[in-house]
Amino acid sequence: MTSATKPIGTYERLAAEVHEWDPKTVDVAARVNEMVRERRPDLTVEHIGSTSVPGLPGKGIVDLSIETTPEDIPAVVELVYDLGFGPQPGPDPWPPSRPMPVGSYELDGHQYRIHLHVQPVGGDFPRDIAFRDALRNDPDLRKQYELLKRGITDAGPVEGLRYTHSKTAWILQVYRRLGFAPPPIAPPSTIGILGGGQLGRMLGFAAREMGYRIVALDPDPDAPITGVADRLEVGAYDDIEAARRMAKGCSIITYELEHVGQQVVAALEDRKRPIRPGQYPLKLTADRVAERKFVEANEGRVAEWREVAGPSDLFEAIAELGYPLRLKAVRGGYDGRSQERLRSHADLESIDPRIGWPALIERELDFEAELSVVVARNVDGISRAFPVARNTHDNGILAESVVPAGVPAAIEDEATTLAKNLATSMGLVGTLTVELFLMRDGSLVVNELAPRVHNSGHWSIEGAITSQFEQHIRAICGLPLGSVDMRAPAVAMVNLLGEGAPRPAHPTGIYEALEVPDTHLHVYDKHNVFERRKMGHVTALGSTPDEALARARQAAGHIGWAPEPPAA
Ligand code: ADP
Ligand code: MG
Repeated sequence: MTSATKPIGTYERLAAEVHEWDPKTVDVAARVNEMVRERRPDLTVEHIGSTSVPGLPGKGIVDLSIETTPEDIPAVVELVYDLGFGPQPGPDPWPPSRPMPVGSYELDGHQYRIHLHVQPVGGDFPRDIAFRDALRNDPDLRKQYELLKRGITDAGPVEGLRYTHSKTAWILQVYRRLGFAPPPIAPPSTIGILGGGQLGRMLGFAAREMGYRIVALDPDPDAPITGVADRLEVGAYDDIEAARRMAKGCSIITYELEHVGQQVVAALEDRKRPIRPGQYPLKLTADRVAERKFVEANEGRVAEWREVAGPSDLFEAIAELGYPLRLKAVRGGYDGRSQERLRSHADLESIDPRIGWPALIERELDFEAELSVVVARNVDGISRAFPVARNTHDNGILAESVVPAGVPAAIEDEATTLAKNLATSMGLVGTLTVELFLMRDGSLVVNELAPRVHNSGHWSIEGAITSQFEQHIRAICGLPLGSVDMRAPAVAMVNLLGEGAPRPAHPTGIYEALEVPDTHLHVYDKHNVFERRKMGHVTALGSTPDEALARARQAAGHIGWAPEPPAA
């Protein structure tokens, strides 16, 4: 068939708005069923989703589903493409093993948009039918669902993914009641961690306590995670073969840094076991331009920015934005590396060539404070944010975090809501950290997102009922989230940063450090120290933020690094 004669038309991505139920959607579903069955009488197209429930308002897209064997899925996709359906657009499509072709059908002058789910036997088809039937049979359930939808779009149309993921928490608890709860990943299952630095090490401790086994991938055979992993696969973060070896026997895979190769995560996403958070949060946060666009699309503010393709574009961007500026690598920066302060044309002489092009240039902001929010979102779509931390950086590297941040409750709420919305919009399962600038007028500007636990959340190990590490493990393993309440009125964390020439590292002063009341020491077992390397941290509890911070600073001040272990 040529495209002009195909019965199914093209599909347009639109922001989600809630409309009354339209009975003609039933006719659309019936027509598509006939078209498919003319060619394949063995298949049935089921009408699912909100338009299949008489009386239920929704965004009006006709959801249809065909269940078939995994081997048959490519043939079904080919058939429906021939009718005029096309591939799913958007940033986070379903995988080819469970695709969702899209299209439209004109009926009585209205163009009905269609999502045609093709689901493998053994997948979620029975659950989707049970959900539909429950909504058809239970007016109270229908009403609840309607109120939820109206709440999400109260303030006007919202981006499609945000709409979908905002409903998840409610829908999943209905699935649970209907007997379709995904079973949790239980100990002693093995968790694979891409990256074996201190974040992986502390994730490992939390997971170990709960009875899980740990394997990890890291290029360094002496990586900090070796102390807690059952097995370390030595390989670069973009080594697909090493990652596959690591993944063997894992029930779930996660990552501790956003610079793991996207091809690695893509290669492991083969339905054998989940990767959480998945490819999409990684894609968004590994690229500073994509990240800024995502934040802006979700009502977050960022510093005014331009993408610059090369040095010749730099002057135009500088003229538009005005000094002072920050020039940042689009990919690959962390701990203040891969970025430069530009105060005047003179600074352009010495730009570090490692930043590379294209780059991002943005206004340097004169902020009041830096804040961060660590939020976890679990398989059930429920999110919980830790109290906001106030952070101090030293040349781009985190030095101290204090909780509570000492900001008005309205700012704490705004930061928390923003973090939960961002996690929801990316459909994230796991942990997201949102780094923020608190501006002098009390407004919040997003600096950076990280789809993982974060240095500014280390205080939670002793300072919160549940640590960020345990929370991440609970989230990715399909377990309920723990309380994020604090265990003390105030908590402070001070990083132990290396100094001096590169050399073997043995901590000194630990006795004196631990004489400070309510103080805890964390050493990451990095075999060598160098200038500004994150070697460990100290956490102190206190009755006020000042007291906690004074204790943590005092303890950290005792710690040094000697090339030899202390003599007996
Ligand atoms: P990294 O990935 O290295 O953490 P960030 O973009 O978070 O990079 O920058 C590190 C630190 O540099 C920030 O925490 C902040 O202190 C400072 N910084 C970065 N961008 C800006 C900016 N636009 N204005 C002012 N300070 C900035
Ligand atoms: Mg940062």
